[in-house]
Amino acid sequence: MFEKREQRVFANADLSVMYAKSMEFWRAQGFNLMEFGNSTFAGEHFTSKLGLKRKVQIQLLKPGENVLVDATFCAEITETGAVAGAIGAVLLFPVAVAVGAVSYFEYENDADNLMRAFWQYLYLIAASPDKNILPPVLPTPEQQMATTASITSSQSQQVYCKHCGAKIETDSKFCRYCGGKQ
Ligand SMILES: [Zn+2]
Repeated sequence: MFEKREQRVFANADLSVMYAKSMEFWRAQGFNLMEFGNSTFAGEHFTSKLGLKRKVQIQLLKPGENVLVDATFCAEITETGAVAGAIGAVLLFPVAVAVGAVSYFEYENDADNLMRAFWQYLYLIAASPDKNILPPVLPTPEQQMATTASITSSQSQQVYCKHCGAKIETDSKFCRYCGGKQ
């Protein structure tokens, strides 16, 4: 399991606005949210193709005029999804699988992207609480999977020399067999 915890302080911010907008952000990423009390919520997002479960827990505190936001993000391939997850992970992370470093690095990438977008969004909200700024929608793991798959398939397209027809590297300027310019 991958876990990441970060905190940010927003000066002179309104707790209720920050709380509502925090929920809006994670809901926009497809997380199912549950509230605990009036300043803590948790969210979960499950990608069945991968058996990938992503969880977030957000707590807001108001020390003085500031709002402190505490965010914990977890990602794991669930046991029930382990078989689908192993297959899905191969589709999602073909390059990482090839070098034998599948889970940690890609989870961290995904978590970093989500957290960065979350903080950026909250800074915008804290600066202009009266504007109804909509949260960004980041690609889901399924969409990342589709993108990775299409990049991989375009990279694996074969290129042949215009002159001798030999199979050559995609980005070759000259054929390494006959020397012909491509
Ligand atoms: Zn050639």
